[in-house]
Amino acid sequence: MSNSRTNISGKGVHKMHIQPADRINKLPRYLFAEIDKKIRAAVEKGVDVIKLGIGDPDQPTPDYIVKRAIEEVQKPANHTYPPDEGLTEFKEAVAAYYKERHNVELDPEKEVCVLLGSKEGIAHISACFVNPGDLNLVPDPGYPVYSIGTMFAGGDVYRMPLLAENNFLPDFSAVDKEVAKKAKLMFLNYPNNPTGAEAPPEFFAQAAQFAKENNIIICHDQAYSEIAYDGYKPMSFLEAPGAKEVGIEFGSLSKTFNMTGWRLAYAVGRAEVVEVLSRYKTNIDSGTFKAIQYTGVEAFTNPAKDEFQAEISKMYQERRDVVVNALKEMGIDVRAPKATFYVWAPVPKGFADSTEFVSYILEETGVVVTPGRGFGEHGEGYFRIALTVDAERMAEAMRRIKDALAAGRP
Ligand SMILES: *Cc1c(COP(=O)(O)O)cnc(C)c1O
Repeated sequence: MSNSRTNISGKGVHKMHIQPADRINKLPRYLFAEIDKKIRAAVEKGVDVIKLGIGDPDQPTPDYIVKRAIEEVQKPANHTYPPDEGLTEFKEAVAAYYKERHNVELDPEKEVCVLLGSKEGIAHISACFVNPGDLNLVPDPGYPVYSIGTMFAGGDVYRMPLLAENNFLPDFSAVDKEVAKKAKLMFLNYPNNPTGAEAPPEFFAQAAQFAKENNIIICHDQAYSEIAYDGYKPMSFLEAPGAKEVGIEFGSLSKTFNMTGWRLAYAVGRAEVVEVLSRYKTNIDSGTFKAIQYTGVEAFTNPAKDEFQAEISKMYQERRDVVVNALKEMGIDVRAPKATFYVWAPVPKGFADSTEFVSYILEETGVVVTPGRGFGEHGEGYFRIALTVDAERMAEAMRRIKDALAAGRP
C-alpha cells in the first residue's frame, strides 16, 4: 500500500487548517474571558463568590406557566414542526397584550413575528436590511448584539453616545447629517441596559420624526418593559406618534416572566419590516417549539400575570434600594433606576478604569460586577450591578465592597 495515501484514522497525516471567516475573526475578543478566569480561580480557592455580573433572573418561571408547558409538551400534535409564520394563538396573545398594556393595535398576522429569543431577532434584523458598507446607528454603551449583527451583515456601526448629561438618551442633533442620510437601522433600548435609564414620551416621538426624515428603520428593544419601580410604567415605542410607520419593537418573555432559558420572543410593528424578518427566518430556522408558543399564550393571558409582575418588580425594587443606599454611603454618586434590574454606577476615584476596578473588587471581595467598558467606549468610567441575588446577599456584597474601598485603593 502506498504510504502517500491518506490514512483513514488521520494519524500521521498533516492536519487540515481551519480558517474561520473574516466575520468570525472580527468578533470582539470576549471581554469577560479575563474576569471568568478570575472567577474560576476564586471559586477554586473556596471564595464565596457573589455574581452580580450577568443579567439573568435568579427566580424560577412562575408555576402557572410551567404547568401549562407540561401539558403542552405531552401533546403529540405539538411535537411536529411549528408553522413557519408562527402560531396564530401566540401572535394573538401578543397583540392582545399590546392593546391592553399599551393601547396599540396590532394585526396578529401581519405585524407580529415570533422569535427564538429577542437576541435572535436583533442579530438577524441587519441581515434583512443592511448591504455591505451600509450604516447602522447603535447606542454606546449598549447591548453588544446590535453591533455584532450589523458587522455580520457587512455593515458599519455609527455609535451614538449615551451620556449622563443627556440622561443616557442619544442626541439626534449630534448625528452627522451624511451619516443620518446613509443609515439603514437605528437601535434603541428603553428601559436601557446597561444604564437603567428610561425614555420620556417625547423622546420616542423625536426618534420617530428623525427616522422618518432620514428614512431609517427604528428597532426598539423593550426587553425590560415590565420591570419598573416607584409606580413607573414604561411605554412602548409604538405608542409614539408615527412610530409604527418607521419601525419595529422587540419584546421578550425572558426577563418579564423569568423565562430566559425558554427562548421565546417577538418583533412587532411596521408590517413590511416584520414580513422581511419572517421571510429571512423561514430560510434559516423552523420556528419555536409549539409547546413553548402555547406556554407563551398562558404567560400573557392568565390573570395570575399581573400579580406575578407586581411581585417581581417589588422584589427587584427592594434589591435596588439596598444597592443604591449602600453605594451612596460609600460616596458613589449613583442614580436609582426607575426600571430594569441594573444599577449603573460611576467607578470610584482612585481606579484607572472600570476593568481595574472590577478586577480589584473581584480579587478583594469575591463580588462580580461588570465593567462599563464591556458595553462600549462610552461605558468606560462606570460599572454595572445586576440585581440578581436576594436582598440579603445584595447587602452582603455591598458590605464587602464598602470594606474593600475603606481598606485602601490599589
Ligand atoms: C436580555 C436582553 C435581551 C434578550 O433577551 P432574549 O432572552 O434573547 O429574549 C435583549 N436586549 C437586552 C437589552 C437584554 O438585556
